[in-house]
Amino acid sequence: MERIETSFNTKCVHTGNGIDKETGAIRRPLTMANSYKLPEDASTMNWSSPDQLVYTRNTSANQIYLQEKLAALEGGEDCVVLATGVAALSGLFFTFLDKDSHVICSDVSYVAVYRLLNEYYPSKYGIETSLVDTSNLDEVRKAVRPNTKLIHIETPGNPTTRISDIAEIAAIAKSVGALLSVDSTFASPYLQRPLELGADLVVHSLTKYINGHGDAMGGAVIGRKALIDQIKRQAMVNLGGAISPFNAWLIMRGAVTLPLRMKQHSESAMTIAEFLEAHPAVAFVAYPGLRNHPQHEVAKKQMTAFSGVLSFGLKADADTHNRFVNSLQLITPAVSVGHDESLMVFVGPDDERNHLYPVSFANGHLRFSIGLEGADDIMADLKQALAAVGL
Ligand SMILES: *Cc1c(COP(=O)(O)O)cnc(C)c1O
Repeated sequence: MERIETSFNTKCVHTGNGIDKETGAIRRPLTMANSYKLPEDASTMNWSSPDQLVYTRNTSANQIYLQEKLAALEGGEDCVVLATGVAALSGLFFTFLDKDSHVICSDVSYVAVYRLLNEYYPSKYGIETSLVDTSNLDEVRKAVRPNTKLIHIETPGNPTTRISDIAEIAAIAKSVGALLSVDSTFASPYLQRPLELGADLVVHSLTKYINGHGDAMGGAVIGRKALIDQIKRQAMVNLGGAISPFNAWLIMRGAVTLPLRMKQHSESAMTIAEFLEAHPAVAFVAYPGLRNHPQHEVAKKQMTAFSGVLSFGLKADADTHNRFVNSLQLITPAVSVGHDESLMVFVGPDDERNHLYPVSFANGHLRFSIGLEGADDIMADLKQALAAVGL
């Protein structure tokens, strides 16, 4: 009998798990092993096959279980899991870009993507890159060239929370025979499913919401089998960014509670965004759930809630922003987002991408990942830290 695995929540709990054949344990075990026993006649074997358990750099048991779960959650045929979000992104770029390629990329995207596509790929391999504001569809259309192979967007964008219209950009990509990849890390598959909107590939930093507990790194690309197979064969096997089985096991466990966590992150972030917006010392709040967010309508169309990350600024200088962060008692001053605990960083105006951000970000911004603590406690901490710096 086939298992009943219909709803998203049920898939989060069950998909990829199973009964361990050897012991009967109702959790698949953690397999920390570098190699797997070869068949008796290995003479015709493909040693580098990403489909066979041979060597953990080329795939591992816990990696396969996690791939199964993530493919189901995004509604994709297949998935490749790698060591970090950046390993997943560079695996994708390595596989689908070559010396004659042109790529269009969100001008605000993860800093490693910015460096890879804006600096290293063009200077080392002659790849042409257009960085555009992908929330503006005309800019995307204008950037298209005959050799455009890939459009890569990040929505919501880190750290601006800028939203790009996935369905519209998918149509542009399709019309010119390019692939569309979407970094959907900030949304997670619970809030947004780009493949259903026409994207070819979805990328996640599993380090963030999908693991959700701030204790393991990972990355994934999900999409049609023919595309994911190429990433496995080219990038997974040969670039060496394999995920540790232990991290795959931790992320598998973290993903079980993804729906509950995303609901709470989104609900608390909305409350806190409204609190900040109403505070006289706050200069701006960038959160897709707020009506004044420039792409609020697009966010409503393609997301079911607005997740837990916002950026904001104070009516104060850089030094005061720094003192504010250091006055926080509950919210931890640390990078990363999507952890169980609230995290905040101040990114000053000398950030290398500051010129690409909306003008409101010109004096620097506070990136704030709202955790699972009580929203009232988080707000109390914000209030006392504002008071501590005289705001
Ligand atoms: C963190 C992040 C990444 C990179 O993921 P790592 O796991 O840190 O390598 C990529 N994209 C976005 C949107 C991120 O927030």
